[in-house]
Amino acid sequence: MGVLTQTIKTAYDSAMENFELAADALNLSLDVRNMIKYPERILQVTLPVRMDNGHIQKFEGYRVQHSTARGPAKGGIRYHPGVTLDEVKALATWMTWKCAVVNIPFGGGKGGVTCNPKEMSLTELEHLTRRYASAILPLIGPEQDIPAPDVYTNSQVMAWIMDTYSMTKGYPIPGVVTGKPIALGGSLGRNEATGRGVFYTLQCAADHLRIPINGAKAVVQGFGNAGSIAAQLLDSHHAYVIAVSDSRGCVYNANGLDIPALINHKEMTGSVVGMANSEPIKSQEMMALDCDILIPAALENMIDAANAHDVKAEIVGEAANGPITPEADAILEAKGIFVIPDILCNAGGVTVSYFEWVQDEQHLFWEAQDVYNRLERVMKNSFSEVLKIHLDRKVSMRTAANMLGISRVAEATTLRGLYP
Ligand code: NAD
Repeated sequence: MGVLTQTIKTAYDSAMENFELAADALNLSLDVRNMIKYPERILQVTLPVRMDNGHIQKFEGYRVQHSTARGPAKGGIRYHPGVTLDEVKALATWMTWKCAVVNIPFGGGKGGVTCNPKEMSLTELEHLTRRYASAILPLIGPEQDIPAPDVYTNSQVMAWIMDTYSMTKGYPIPGVVTGKPIALGGSLGRNEATGRGVFYTLQCAADHLRIPINGAKAVVQGFGNAGSIAAQLLDSHHAYVIAVSDSRGCVYNANGLDIPALINHKEMTGSVVGMANSEPIKSQEMMALDCDILIPAALENMIDAANAHDVKAEIVGEAANGPITPEADAILEAKGIFVIPDILCNAGGVTVSYFEWVQDEQHLFWEAQDVYNRLERVMKNSFSEVLKIHLDRKVSMRTAANMLGISRVAEATTLRGLYP
């Protein structure tokens, strides 16, 4: 995060600000704005959980359904000490526009629990997850609202949610969550879908700007599900991933890090820190490295007015949700940096979540290559649609993506009309 943040703007403030920019460009009426801008439903839950020491600890959790105009709410569940209702509302809002950008029949939702899973045992995490799942049970369901993994949640967490939901209904309902283990009705290719989608959009941007991926220098902030897979694909397409970070630190090698070895190192030690043939650098230095591609793949507001001036990349691919503040957006735009906005760049995850849901509903499962081919088509078509709006209307890629997503939600909402 930038050091000299002047105004404390929240992720939801950014989401609202970017909504208005796109709504203005679309000339949306105030009536339609009022119908689509705000979350439809917010549930806040208190979760008492028995910890391994025998005591009961209380956690706060949320599930926000921003929109069900185009289909069931869809969006991940985050476990992180920084989770707030404001953040979950922002993430749910972005999910609505994201599903519409890639034109899958879902609305937007998001969930979160304020906790530090790194300090919890597997048993504590299971108890927390089952209690959270039962607390949000009235909202979720394969036709209502379908959670998925996000920061510090994974396929095991989804398995516990699927089981808790199924036990209360009395029969197995795999379609209530996506990002499940394959053995429970997960989709091949879901685990790497977000990073793969990021990579496809980077390929499109690089083609557009005539920057060869082969030989390009890339920096990746956040080395989890989204960041590590994007790094791996860049590496296997002969880009040099010169710096990578996670919550514990950053590592750098001017000649390119050995990404398969780094993935191994992170698996063994829990962090990228201490990787062989790398030197530690500070986060601020990493964001300012001379490179072609910068991928923020951690949390919101990592590029703000204080550090945006330092960014030297030609392309910023937002694997994370909301990593660039609106002020930083303006700075990057003035510097001529091409930003692939989050609701396009990281939409591969929800796209394959949609494929998983379709397979669960049909009880018919696809081969991995089929998933990749369909994902590539969706990501590249969506990129072309957003790029066309960007070029035709002379708006930023973010506003173009928001215009595409918001216009589809506005159309669906208007066609449905106002109940009652
Ligand atoms: P993850 O839990 O797998 O990984 C998060 C990574 O970020 C970890 O390596 C962690 O150490 C690192 N991190 C945390 N704080 C950091 C900091 N201050 N500086 C640098 N690194 C830091 O989570 P993920 O699923 O990869 O999610 C990352 C981002 O991608 C989030 O914004 C998430 O909303 C977004 N996203 C994820 C998916 C998905 O399918 N997993 C889909 C779309 C968007």
